[in-house]
Amino acid sequence: MISIKGLSKHFGDLQVLKDINLKVGKGKVIVVIGPSGSGKTTMLRCLNILEIPTNGHITIENKQLDFSKKVTKKVTKKAIIDFRKLTGMVFQNYNLFPHKTALENVMEGPITVKKQSKEKARNKAAELLNKVGLGDKIDYYPFQLSGGQQQRVGIARALAMEPEVMLFDEPTSALDPELVGEVLKVIKELANEGMTMIVVTHEMKFAREVADEVIFMDGGYIVEKGNPQDIFTVPKEARTKQFLQLIQ
Ligand code: ATP
Repeated sequence: MISIKGLSKHFGDLQVLKDINLKVGKGKVIVVIGPSGSGKTTMLRCLNILEIPTNGHITIENKQLDFSKKVTKKVTKKAIIDFRKLTGMVFQNYNLFPHKTALENVMEGPITVKKQSKEKARNKAAELLNKVGLGDKIDYYPFQLSGGQQQRVGIARALAMEPEVMLFDEPTSALDPELVGEVLKVIKELANEGMTMIVVTHEMKFAREVADEVIFMDGGYIVEKGNPQDIFTVPKEARTKQFLQLIQ
């Protein structure tokens, strides 16, 4: 269970997130849509504490980080590192280590952050690469892999940390169209297995098929949320209608 309350984020004078409130039940898939600059990526980065929220608090399972202005106690680095272990982030541009093989990329986190033995990390990494369809590519370097394959390594790497929730930030938007399907297939499989996930995407067909709830963001706000059927066919808010007309 994830709970976000009163989350806001400023970059200098620019307020990018404005009082975001959201609850995500265990095993649920939330798809976040919205125009460029609406704050989707920043919201994900705040959940992973890659950005420090300006205000609000975030709870994942039984762990909470409180950034509210009333709280005088500073959130410590250690608390942030512990909290980050709860989420697995998949980035638009894969962010793989270029000089490490697929297997080494997936092993890295469990060894350095979770202090797992090399053997255990290697076995788990091989299993996960197999799961994302790359069992025969474990010793390949990123430059030897297609974008879709690199992104699947990115997914395996996030899964290796055994997170409570997977955060996908436009995971297919850097891919050639013919490679999008293979990545979405892996994400769909994870959803079917009951993984909790928040997915920022422009893939509306995927959103319709996989989302339990779709969130439309604009101007730093959650403007509307609902089940995909309602959001895509009978959106309530004018801004949602306008956005959907433009992209569909
Ligand atoms: P896109 O769909 O284009 O990725 P988005 O909805 O994910 O957009 P964000 O990337 O969250 O939007 O950006 C929201 C706003 O915050 C934008 O105006 C962006 O320029 C600004 N922003 C994001 N990161 C920073 C930063 N590190 N410093 C200053 N401004 C930032």
